[in-house]
Amino acid sequence: MTIFSKIVSGEIPCNKVLENSDFLAFHDINPKAPVHILIIPKKEYQCFQEVDPKIMVGLTEFTHQVAKLLGLDESGYRLITNNGSDGGQEVLHLHFHLLGGAKLSWDHL
Ligand code: 5GP
Repeated sequence: MTIFSKIVSGEIPCNKVLENSDFLAFHDINPKAPVHILIIPKKEYQCFQEVDPKIMVGLTEFTHQVAKLLGLDESGYRLITNNGSDGGQEVLHLHFHLLGGAKLSWDHL
């Protein structure tokens, strides 16, 4: 079980932004931008290759809601996933980083 599954189950606390039956958004513990949110499917997909493409519709809608809630809709934001070893993925539970609140450069990563 990954640390993110423990966050989903409530075993480990998080600073939650939004939740529905399939997805959870919470603040990254080590933010790389003024706003740094992690968006995860509650189901534990290890990597992007494992994802059922059908969940991406719901994930897109959920991400739009998170961005609106945080007031990033107009200013914009960066949405990335580090996938696998070469992608720099540390937590093996698929997640998307939503970064914003400043004009970002590649140096943020
Ligand atoms: P990755 O490198 O796998 O794409 O990113 C993992 C992210 O998870 C990192 O940005 C790291 O700061 C964050 N993270 C790791 N452990 C925890 C935790 O226990 N709580 C929260 N909120 N974020 C975490």
